[in-house]
Amino acid sequence: MGAYLRFSLEGRTVLIVGASRGIGLAIAQEVAAAGARTVMGARSLAPLRAAAAELVAQGLAAEAVKLDVTDAVNAGAVVASLPELDGLVFVAGTNVRKAFETYTEEEYTRIVDTNLNAASRLARLAGAAMLGRGRGGKIVFIGSSNQVTSLPYLAPYAMTKAALGGLTRALAAEWGRHQIQVNCIAPGLIWTDLTARVLSDPDIAAWREGVQPIQRWGQPADIAPLAVYLLGPVSDFVTGQTIAVDGGYTTTKVWPFRPAEDDAG
Ligand code: NDP
Repeated sequence: MGAYLRFSLEGRTVLIVGASRGIGLAIAQEVAAAGARTVMGARSLAPLRAAAAELVAQGLAAEAVKLDVTDAVNAGAVVASLPELDGLVFVAGTNVRKAFETYTEEEYTRIVDTNLNAASRLARLAGAAMLGRGRGGKIVFIGSSNQVTSLPYLAPYAMTKAALGGLTRALAAEWGRHQIQVNCIAPGLIWTDLTARVLSDPDIAAWREGVQPIQRWGQPADIAPLAVYLLGPVSDFVTGQTIAVDGGYTTTKVWPFRPAEDDAG
């Protein structure tokens, strides 16, 4: 078997939740290209259908399903319709950026329900299906760099993403003996609909120069290959991890030091 073929997802069924645009769409495209039957879920059926049709036109296996992750009945029905589910990627997420003391109950609840409660629900439903089938499985959450280093004005979001790291470790501990691996990808600053308004601010671009060694915004396509790796057999010994894809944002710092020509120390 060639080295590249070891990353194949052929014969696997993967549900990508939050696949209508941005990071979820890029993951769905890459997962389909890797050979999986790719089930794409989100609330907006029209873009999902268009994206799935494009993949099918390329000879890949993709389908669209309407899914509001905050609706427990809807989520249960979608998972029940996929008895052969091998992988779940939970990408759906939302944010409201404002001072913590000004969040309304509705804003706070929507963020926590979408980013955390729904992720936990989908993992519970998918995990139960995988356990019942007895052939193992893969669960991948999309966390955030805010899990380990946070910024002002997104406290509920940061809280939900940090909790996903804990859920990742707990489920990995519980389901490892059943060959179900659970991991989390923590993207840094990725240009999508969720962030375009903030990242297009020239002050924010100037700020990036001091906090991130790779001098560009991330793209959804930067995240997708890691999802393929975490869904395939090559990562069977990797579980409970949160893995950053962030251009070095969470692992580096800058300092004003500049080496002199003859500075050896
Ligand atoms: P987008 O806003 O571009 O996409 C969000 C996706 O989530 C859409 O497909 C949307 O579909 C789906 N979604 C939202 N609410 C629901 C819901 N109730 N039910 C089903 N699907 C839902 O965001 P990104 O691609 O940027 O973000 C994707 C994930 O990556 C999020 O979890 C985000 O927190 C995370 N992330 C993003 C970063 C970034 O810099 N962009 C950085 C770190 C993490 P629809 O509206 O059709 O339902």
